[in-house]
Parts: sequence; structure tokens; C-alpha cells
Amino acid sequence: MDYNDSIVKIKGIGEKTQKIFLKIGIETVQDLLEHYPRDYEEFGMPVPISQVSEGSVATIEAYLGITPRLRRVRHLQILNVQVRDSSGTLMLTWFNMPFLKNRLTMGTSYLFRGKVKTKNGALVMEQPQIFFNKEDYYKLLKVLQPIYPLTEGLTNKLLIKSMHEVHNNLKFAKDYIPDRISKEYSLIDRTKALKEIHFPKDRESLKRARERLVFDEFFLYSLALRRMRDSKAISRTEYPMNEADECERLIDSLPYKLTKAQHLVWSEIKNDLTSELAMNRLVQGDVGSGKTVLALLALLMAVKNGYQACIMVPTEVLAKQHYSSFCRMLSGFDVSVCLLVGSMTPKEKNEAYERIREHKADIIVGTHALIQEKVVYDNLALVITDEQHRFGVRQREYLMTKGKKPHVLVMSATPIPRTLAIILYGDLDISILDELPARRLPIKNCVVNISYRPTAYRFIEKQVAQGRQAYVICPMVEESEMIEAENVIDYTQQIREAMPSGISIEYLHGKMKPKEKNSIMERFAEGSIQVLVSTTVVEVGVNVPNATVMMVENAERFGLAQLHQLRGRVGRGEHQSYCIFVCGTGSREAKERLEILNKSNDGFYIAEEDLKLRGPGDLFGIRQSGDLDFRIGNIYTDASILKLAAQAAKSLSDDEVEEIFSENPYLEDKILNKTGNTL
Ligand code: ADP
Ligand code: MG
Repeated sequence: MDYNDSIVKIKGIGEKTQKIFLKIGIETVQDLLEHYPRDYEEFGMPVPISQVSEGSVATIEAYLGITPRLRRVRHLQILNVQVRDSSGTLMLTWFNMPFLKNRLTMGTSYLFRGKVKTKNGALVMEQPQIFFNKEDYYKLLKVLQPIYPLTEGLTNKLLIKSMHEVHNNLKFAKDYIPDRISKEYSLIDRTKALKEIHFPKDRESLKRARERLVFDEFFLYSLALRRMRDSKAISRTEYPMNEADECERLIDSLPYKLTKAQHLVWSEIKNDLTSELAMNRLVQGDVGSGKTVLALLALLMAVKNGYQACIMVPTEVLAKQHYSSFCRMLSGFDVSVCLLVGSMTPKEKNEAYERIREHKADIIVGTHALIQEKVVYDNLALVITDEQHRFGVRQREYLMTKGKKPHVLVMSATPIPRTLAIILYGDLDISILDELPARRLPIKNCVVNISYRPTAYRFIEKQVAQGRQAYVICPMVEESEMIEAENVIDYTQQIREAMPSGISIEYLHGKMKPKEKNSIMERFAEGSIQVLVSTTVVEVGVNVPNATVMMVENAERFGLAQLHQLRGRVGRGEHQSYCIFVCGTGSREAKERLEILNKSNDGFYIAEEDLKLRGPGDLFGIRQSGDLDFRIGNIYTDASILKLAAQAAKSLSDDEVEEIFSENPYLEDKILNKTGNTL
């Protein structure tokens, strides 16, 4: 078995399973091998039912009390099974696994292992693992078991089995890192690391394995970036520009004054655009620091110099929003703005392509649709990516190839310290917007537990009565997107019942069709929906200044940086805004972590504190989506490894770099194509 073999080569994976794996980007053996566990668990002795407690993961040994019951709720098939032991009874629930009904027999005892939750006042275990053969379980006692990120139709068991198959049959390649580097940085062998990360001997060897793989990831990233920078070499621009009076006019027409920081960064951008070299700049600024207007100014300047310019954003919702606000702000400037997103009809798209090709469109706003082959630009002089951390480096590059070495501007709200930004965006100049617009009232925060919910709802009601709007971010569900969608719907139902019927409450989740999402977002933006129940799809860039409440359920499950982004959706207008973090556990640590947000509204500070609190002991931390997402490395918690890896990458000779990539051609693509979760 080879790295590049399709996963159907693995025993137990057929065509049907292959399709499911494809959904999470796993095509080859190599992909599977790099599908790292998100956590590990250690199996303990079974406990009596009377001793299981909410929130814990427990194993019980119990038999079926009554015949299992299968129900259908919308798309879900729910199997409820009541089990008992000598100490009590417990309800077990499985979703979309109807076949279990016949596999479980009355009167036989099994081992069940799963997370215990409260539903309607009673304890339940959801999606427990079943050990039909108890010996299997006892063999695993005290061994670290991997827990993999899953998707609908995949089970952890299948992943473990497939991983074993790979380990037993794969011809592992020799380590690509030169010996002197391995020695200097005390790296363990890569093959060993790949084995240990899935099936660690103990915590210590797991830590070492992880360190090696994190090092690899950052090391290769740095190398790929280095190659890209070299190939770009500093070049004279094909699109020289002069300053444009219209930009000053636009600044004067704004309903506010630019901040000092905005002025400063704008002059840096202007300098780049009027210089002889092509611009390659990153603007980093906390949520709400006012990056959009800078993008607009740059776009306008390009257009007034006779060129085309475009801006790519990660979600359709955001594309639409930018499109409408640009149209509004540019009325009277004789600029034609065009929208291009995936959900447009073929007819609409063709019209857009034509307008772009014939330069009837000056500014093009869109999603990934902008980099489709069919789009032919005319004199594309400036490309901007907004919310860069949601794209891969490669996607930004593709957009560049659409013009002849255009000027490049990327915007990011990821709060990372400058030292790290220089490493991670090594090919770009960096501007920092370190000031929020004045006269904005600081957001008032509170961290509460679930008993506060009714109070929070009353509070939202009052805000709505004053004409304001609210976001409620729904509890997260790990297992699958489908369940997540159901969950949003159920929660919306609950909140509708808890609030007066005059309030319009709608939901939004990733599984909805783009058209539906857009229409909900539009109605929220225009104020006809007052409360929006949502998953984190609203995390990026959305700007509805009239929304003043952000309520986040299960806040403890999010990374602080992500919560900060979510909070950034409010406090964008003149009204006092509020953020309510609902902590779903009583854990003191969880509360302490959330208190950081309570104390500060500063993204950089939060990222740093988060880092301190987690420390090196916490291997896997909490999902930090929205950051520069690496497969295993975390730019905050692994900052020291990042620095070492960058240093090591720098120390290689050009020949060594070429050798690594020519011997392992898949490496570079893999690294640069990685993307955040685009929605
Ligand atoms: P982000 O940096 O998160 O992309 P936006 O550009 O969306 O932030 O700006 C957030 C809000 O602040 C918008 O409603 C925008 O109109 C407003 N804004 C931008 N700059 C200023 C400023 N200098 N003074 C007051 N409001 C501003
Ligand atoms: Mg923005």
C-alpha cells in the first residue's frame, strides 16, 4: 500500500464509504493517515447507572428493560432504548441507526459507553458505543483510544479499524527532513510519530509524536511560502496608478471620520499603489476596526485609474452585504459594481461574465466564484481577499493569476501577534489597524449559566421592543451537520414558544441552500427578522449595526478567538450592545476562560490570554475554527514550535528545498490548498 493509493485499497472501505470520506476531503491513504484524532479517551471500569452524572462520559453494564422504540422526526430516525442494571434505569438514544433495533436483544446485557446529558429533566446517553463482546472492552482498559472528527455515516470504530489497516500495510516513506535538522531540533522519526499519534503508548509519547507532526506542518508551510516568495520576486507593476480625487471625496462623504489608524493604513496602501512595484499587503485589524472602507477606497482608486478590481470573500452572505453597501456608497461616483456568487442562476452568471469581460463592470464582488475558469477579467489591477484566514494561500494566489501580476491586498481579523504574522504571511507586507472607531460604546458582556436563559430571553425581548435585533448562537453539536441543523430548528421552536408571538424569529444553518441563507440574512439586515438563531455561519464579517445582542449558547465549546469574532457582530452601531455567554457546564475552568472575554474586548489581548491559560499541558484544546487552520498545529498554543520550524526552514539551502519537494510532490499542494471551513 502506498501513500497515494485510493482509500478503497483499505480493507473494509468500499465505494459507498469512499464517497463519505470524500466529503471530509479524504481521498488517499495519505489523507487518512493525516486525519488526526481530535482527542483521546481512556476507558475506565463500568459504573452503576445510579452513579452516572451529567456531562460525564461513562460506561455502564446494563440490559434492555423494554423493547426499543424507533421514531421519525423530520429527517431523523431516533432509536430510544431504556436499559437497567441493579442500581437504576437510563435512556439511551441513537440517531439514524435504525438497524440497532434488531441487533439489541431483550434480557442480554451489554456495555454501553457514551456522554451523559439531561433531556427534559432526565439523564440520557446519546449515541453510545456498544460493546457486544465485553472482552473487547476490557482489553482496552487504560489504553488511550483515539477519537476522530467524524461526519454523517462515519463511525469512530471504522476509522480506528481503517487506521490499523493502514499501519499494518503501508510502506512508510523514509523521513524527508534532513538528519541535521532532526538532530538539531530533537525530532522523533516521522513514521513513528504517525503511528503514535493514532495509537499512543502513553501521554508522554503522544506529546512527542504531536510535536513532530506540528513541526512538520509548520516547516512545510514555511518552505512552501518561501518558494512562493522566491518565484514572485519583487516585480515592477504592470498597473501604475496615480492618486484619485474621488477617494478624498469618498472619505468626505462618509457619515464618520476615519480613525487615525485607518488614515495611516490608507496612506500605506496609496503609497504601494502609486509606487513602481506591485503591492503585496496584509491589513490586519480586529473585528469592527473598519477594514471594509479601506478595501473600498483601494478599489475606487484602481477603477479611477481605468482598471478593473475585485474583492473575494468567504461567504455569499458577506458578498451580498459588501455588494449592497458598495453600490450605496459609490452612487454618484460613476462606478459599476457587479456581484458574482455560486448560487446565481446560469443566466445571471453569464450576464456577469459578459459584463466583466467587456469591462462594463468596474468592481467585482464575489466568493470563490471569482476564480472560476469562466471568469475573464479586463485589466484586473487589484485583487483583495477579505477575511483571508478563511481561505487557503493557494486560493489567494489563483485570484492573482487572473490578472497580470495585479496588486494584492488581503484583510484579516485574526488577532495574532506581529512576530507570528510575519512568519505566517511571510510573503506580504503588514499593516495593522490597532484602533477601533471612537464613539463606539464598549460592548457589555456577561458570563452566565443556563438557569439565566429566561432572563436573557426577557432581555432580548426588551431590546426588540426598543427596535433592536439579536443573534442567538445555538448550542453546538459535534457529531454531524445534520444533527446540528435539527438542533437549530428545535432550539428555534423553543425560543419561539418562550417569546411573544409578535417577534419574528428565524434560523440559519450551514445545511440550508445559499438562496435560503441569503434571503434570511437579507431580511435580518433590513430588520424584518428580529431574532436570528444561528450556527456559527454568521461568524464572518456580517455587519448589521442595528443588532445589539449576541447570545452564545454553550460558549465553553468555542475557542476564545472565535467567540471574539462572534461578539464582533454586535457593537457596530451607535447603540449600546450586549454579549451573553451562556456556559453549559459548571466547570470552574470553563468559566474562568470565558471571564477573559468578559474583561476585555481586545482581540490581541484575548488571544494571548487564551494562550497562557491553556499552556502546553492542553494538547488539543478547543476547536479554533476561524483561525489560520492547520491540520494539527495551533498557531497560538504551538507558537514556539512555529518559530522553530520557520527558523529550520530558513536554514535549508535552495537545493535541499527543491529536493524535498521533488521527492514528495504531494506535499506542497497539500499545504497551500488547505482552507478554513468555507460555508
Ligand atoms: P471590519 O474591520 O470588522 O471589517 P467593518 O469595516 O465592517 O469592520 O466596519 C464595522 C462598522 O464600523 C461598519 O458599520 C462601518 O461602517 C463602521 N465604521 C468603519 N470605520 C468607522 C469610523 N472611522 N468611525 C465610525 N464607524 C466606522
Ligand atoms: Mg470585515
